[in-house]
Amino acid sequence: MENYVIKQARLINEERVDILVENGIIQKIAPCIETSYETLNFQDCYVSAGWIDIHTHCFDKFEIYGDQADFIGYPHGVCTVVDAGTAGSDTIDEFYQQVKNAKTRVYSLLNISSPGIFAQDELADLKRLNQEAIVQACQKYPQFIVGLKARMSKSVLGDSGNQPLIFAKEMQKFVNLPIMVHIGTAPSVLENIVDMLDEYDIITHVFNPKQNGILDKGYIKDCVYQAIEKGIILDLGHGTDSFSFETAKIAFQNGIKVNTISSDIYFKNRINGPVYDLATTMNKMLYIGYSLAEVIRCVTVNASKALHLDHLGSIEVGKTADFTVFHICPQDIELTDSLHQKVTMCHYLKPDYTIVKNHLYQIEEDK
Ligand SMILES: [Zn+2]
Repeated sequence: MENYVIKQARLINEERVDILVENGIIQKIAPCIETSYETLNFQDCYVSAGWIDIHTHCFDKFEIYGDQADFIGYPHGVCTVVDAGTAGSDTIDEFYQQVKNAKTRVYSLLNISSPGIFAQDELADLKRLNQEAIVQACQKYPQFIVGLKARMSKSVLGDSGNQPLIFAKEMQKFVNLPIMVHIGTAPSVLENIVDMLDEYDIITHVFNPKQNGILDKGYIKDCVYQAIEKGIILDLGHGTDSFSFETAKIAFQNGIKVNTISSDIYFKNRINGPVYDLATTMNKMLYIGYSLAEVIRCVTVNASKALHLDHLGSIEVGKTADFTVFHICPQDIELTDSLHQKVTMCHYLKPDYTIVKNHLYQIEEDK
């Protein structure tokens, strides 16, 4: 399916347009396009650029914390998944071979530690920080590695303090890629991380309920405002332990919103919850009070900008023709956060079709 027209696509701004695709690229957008190509009509569903999940784990070699791109991606309306540091320079070849033919698009944030997450305390031994190996990996896979990942929390760091992040910032000068920093239990403390990061770097797990999170006794820490001022990108990174309705709600009431919504999904939190899929995470932000347009922006244009995936993320002439088709279901849904807090919402967003790599997939009813 390389050439086709989506007839009267309902965009998020309620505009209706025809979208002409040739060779997998959006060629024309107009009120009415006449062609002999195959036509698709999604009636009253919305059509957005293909959803991008910038924090996932989809390298199933790592049994404890892995999954497969095609289990978390296209069957859930997600066209692109970014593996956030499961692989390091030791394992990037194997990871690339495993995912290069996936139906879902896959990119990697290379773990700054050579073994990647396989070590679990991968930043506890500074000998695992290998400058040459990182540069080599980034040169070998310039289209695949889109950033670096540093998991800056206690169980990962051991006694390494801020050294791994100092190293990552140094590496950035060589590879010129964004760094995604996972925050969790101190050390390292959030204030230090914000100090060390620059515009376009990414902090993930922003709404985690831990002491070293964005709140101090229910108030937003000053460093969060500093992070926003600096232009640091705030990413959701739901995960098993890292999303609290309460934290997200207080942030929202104080005008603090994430730039990108990501799931931090892997097989366990996909099957047992509380993540399940990206759409469920998006629904939680609708519940918090984000508008539908904001939620969609967080997984399309904002996500593509965060990782310089310039060919993705918007419905524009010249962009890759990845689309997610979805509707708002007027039924109750129960949502659960990482603290087992449950809420009910009376409508929710539900993906219907994924178009990625020139294939159209209908999404099954039962996930
Ligand atoms: Zn993660």
